[in-house]
Order: sequence, then structure tokens, then C-alpha cells
Amino acid sequence: MNRSEPPLLSVRNMITSFHTHDGIVNAVNGVDFDIFPGETLGLVGESGCGKSVTAMSVLRLLNPSTATTLGEVIFKGKNLLDMTPEKMRMIRGSEISMIFQEPMTSLNPILTVGEQIAESLRLHEKLDQEKAWEKTVQMLKLVQIPSPEIRAGQYPHKLSGGMRQRAMIAMALCCNPCLVFADEPTTALDVTIQAQIIRLLDHLKKGSNMSVILITHDLGVIARMAARVVVMYAGKVVEEAPVVPLFHDPKHPYTRGLLNSIPVLKNDGQTRLTEIPGIVPNLLHMPRGCSFHPRCSRVMDICTKKSPPMVHFMENRRAACWLVSDE
Ligand code: SF4
Repeated sequence: MNRSEPPLLSVRNMITSFHTHDGIVNAVNGVDFDIFPGETLGLVGESGCGKSVTAMSVLRLLNPSTATTLGEVIFKGKNLLDMTPEKMRMIRGSEISMIFQEPMTSLNPILTVGEQIAESLRLHEKLDQEKAWEKTVQMLKLVQIPSPEIRAGQYPHKLSGGMRQRAMIAMALCCNPCLVFADEPTTALDVTIQAQIIRLLDHLKKGSNMSVILITHDLGVIARMAARVVVMYAGKVVEEAPVVPLFHDPKHPYTRGLLNSIPVLKNDGQTRLTEIPGIVPNLLHMPRGCSFHPRCSRVMDICTKKSPPMVHFMENRRAACWLVSDE
């Protein structure tokens, strides 16, 4: 990671609203973060906290007839939110790409895996048919798919879940993007394959200056791959810290709750975990004050009345909690 260079991507006060039958819902509500060249940034939180909507908003993948994104998303000095749909299409897949959770929903079932990767190479890298196919096979080899020449000619349903995820990674990386969003890249896979995919992503990342935004609810994956972590709750950033201080000394009770819910194997051979009580609030009926207060074990009177400000402390940490403000 190179923090002496300007950030590769800066998200500033991003708000994404969905127009629903019951009213307007801010799924992302004033989110700020930076990612630097070569860095892996973890975006964590439970399902429904706004992590995936944040990624989809940055990539402008939400349907504009149902969702509106405001704020600034500065990538290489330009605001992505001001770009034409055509320009954005060219950036997606070449400079910024995304690895989705379930490859079957993003791979086209009626094209072979190889045809899909080669098409991307022809479009973005302007390679001819032969060169695009050569590079496709190379990419499948790079992501450790056995017999890549044969697999390139197969349809997605012929591949196992783990192999489809590898093909998806090959497709996301084939045009050498400088920024990759990986949205729960291992959730749909069994534990052994999950570990293989994480090892693979880690390995591919090490050989390049690519930045990765890793979206997950799995803090084990974050501990292995990320350098810095942004924690989201109810559409907002509630804490940000480098990975080691965050794991050793989380400041926000929500972060602490997430860390306590990692399963721990005890001496008696039993697995223990403590879940955060309650559920993520309905965005149409947000609690007053701190949105985490109905679930927080440290709740105080002020928490139910006023939303806590974001407090910056130490060199590169921040948290939005009245306890941090008091400190
Ligand atoms: Fe808990 Fe209050 Fe901090 Fe919210 S502001 S996380 S309710 S202590």
C-alpha cells in the first residue's frame, strides 16, 4: 500500500436512497472513506448494513429509476457520479471490477466461461479473437483452474461452485483493474473452498499494485487480508481503524459485538460465540439518536436522543459513539 500517493478512490458524503412504496429509504447515509493504491480495505457489518449498496453505488450498478446516489465518488481525480453511462461502462470491467458473491447470477449461462472472459478482453483491451482466447486460458490457469483449455470451452453450470468463483475472479482481473470490489467472495462456498479462494485472492493481490475493497460479514477473512477496516451499521460508517488496533481495541460497541460473535474454540472442545442481541433496524423506522442504541449494552440517556458525531483520534482512527466522545 502506498499512502504517500493520493487516494485512488475517495467517497465523500455518499447517500443512496431507494424509492419504495412505503417511502424513501436511505440505505447508504453519508458514507466517507478513502482507499489507497495497493491497499486492501475491509468493509464489514451484518447483512443489511449498506455494504453492498455502497459498492453498487460506487460502480453505478443500481437502477436509476429506483435508486438515487448523491455525494462524491472521486476516482483518479474524477467524480464517477458525474460520468456518462457509456464512460462508466468502460471504467467498469477495465479499471474497476467486481467479484460477486454468487457467480451464477453474474456469469451468462448461455455463453461458455471462456467466451465471457474473451469478450471482456476484446472490448476493453482491444485484443483480437486469438489473443483474447490465449489470455483467457492464461487467466484461468492463473486462478488455478485445472485443464484451463478444456474448462474455457465449458458452460458455467458444468463447473463446480469453487471453480465458478475462480472463473469470476479471472474475469474480474483479466483487464488488470486498479480497483476490485470483492463482495462476500466466499460466502456461497463450503469452508475448504472458502480458504482456497481467500488464499488465491491474497496471492493474486501480492503480485500487483491493485487495491481491493473486501466486503464481508466474516471478520476472519478481514483479519487475513485487510490492512484497514471500515465498519458500517444502518447505512453509516461507525468505526474505522487499521486491522490490528481494531481487533485488539475496538472502540464502538457494535464493532466489539461483531468481534465477540466470531466463533472461538475453547479448551473443552466447545465452540463459543456471543451474538449481538436484536436485529438491524428497519431503515424506514430508524431509532432516534444513535441507530445502534436499541441493541447496545452501553446505552446512555444521550444515545436515545442525539446521534453521536464522528470523532477522529490517534493517527488514523475514527468512531461515532458517545463513549468515544467522552474519552
Ligand atoms: Fe452505544 Fe451510545 Fe455508543 Fe450508540 S452512542 S454505540 S448507544 S454507547
